[in-house]
Amino acid sequence: TSTKSTEIIEKTHKFGANNYHPLPIVISKAEGVWVENPEGTRYMDMLSAYSAVNQGHRHPKIIQALKDQADRVTLTSRAFHNDQLGPWYERICKLTNKNMALPMNTGAEAVETALKAARRWGYDVKGIAENQAEIIACTGNFHGRTMGAVSLSSDPEYKRGFGPMLPGIKLIPYGDLEALKAAITPNTAAFLMEPIQGEAGIILPPDGFLKAASELCKENNVLFIADEIQVGLARTGKMFACDWEEVEPDMLILGKALGGGVFPISCVVANSDVLGVFNPGSHGSTFGGNPLACAVSLAALDVIEEEKLPERSLELGKYFLDQLKTISNPMIKEVRGKGLFIGVELTEEARPYCEQLKEEGLLCKETHDTVIRFAPPLIISKEEIDWAVAKIQKILG
Ligand code: PLP
Repeated sequence: TSTKSTEIIEKTHKFGANNYHPLPIVISKAEGVWVENPEGTRYMDMLSAYSAVNQGHRHPKIIQALKDQADRVTLTSRAFHNDQLGPWYERICKLTNKNMALPMNTGAEAVETALKAARRWGYDVKGIAENQAEIIACTGNFHGRTMGAVSLSSDPEYKRGFGPMLPGIKLIPYGDLEALKAAITPNTAAFLMEPIQGEAGIILPPDGFLKAASELCKENNVLFIADEIQVGLARTGKMFACDWEEVEPDMLILGKALGGGVFPISCVVANSDVLGVFNPGSHGSTFGGNPLACAVSLAALDVIEEEKLPERSLELGKYFLDQLKTISNPMIKEVRGKGLFIGVELTEEARPYCEQLKEEGLLCKETHDTVIRFAPPLIISKEEIDWAVAKIQKILG
């Protein structure tokens, strides 16, 4: 029988470029941790749009900010000032303890911005000879889908047919300090990493790596850049994942939850000795820093602070992780994570289990074949976690 959902899915397949493999579910409504299909079946969202919906779907305060701003002005371009951007700059700088920020729209654009800043800093400040700057990144990384971001990738599927790639990139095994040491040369402008790798399957670096890597970078006059697009803004139980080792990166890349899952906004924050390398004409974006995005982002940051989402994520994440660890099944290889950013690694393909969990009312997505990621909106309650654990126990137990 053809339902509204099957019709929509057919249309999507018929006209859409085939660059995703979604679970066969249509979402037409959402609130908090719950989403609903056109037939009225409710599901718990355990993905949070890859951590963009940390504040929960359609948080009332963020939606109000969106509506209020939509009634005033939405876009000015950067040819003129707008009244939301200045306050947003101040806010994001205070939050990150930096003195300069640059807003973009998507995560990948912010990564591009960081790469451009790092290279120009390499030439203008560090004194690297023209066109010789090198960036070090990690195997297994995910920094987005632009040419710059896929040039950083070690995954052949992200790169096949898209060459030639950006030159000047070196990869080291994730979390390998000796390899980082060996990779640094006088031409190294920056080391870019995810403090926890998300798309690779919730991979944590060895304890102490962030701290040691940032110190090594400092000793060698290399910028330490943290891509906190997925793990920043409360997801791992701290405001930023680098806070776990009290590391202050030279550049911080944010996105996703910065717009509360309501409106895209991303940014790079640093001090003026780094971001000061940009001058008028060197970089920009028509929508970057638009007043609608800034107003939404200010409300999204309010929610993270007012509702103490880092603390919530820390406490409930520990509870959730402990519960998941009690599930005994030889097929479960490892349960790991920080805060409400949890991966369950199986000895076999995770996709069929995600499909079964969907039948139980739980929406998860497999990542890198064998890992199920559990990353609910951070406003989730303990009771809702108990509900989820019972379902997970039923399928994985
Ligand atoms: N960097 C990291 C760590 C990410 O997880 C993502 C998205 O998943 C990106 C960059 C790219 O962000 P966007 O999809 O908004 O371009």
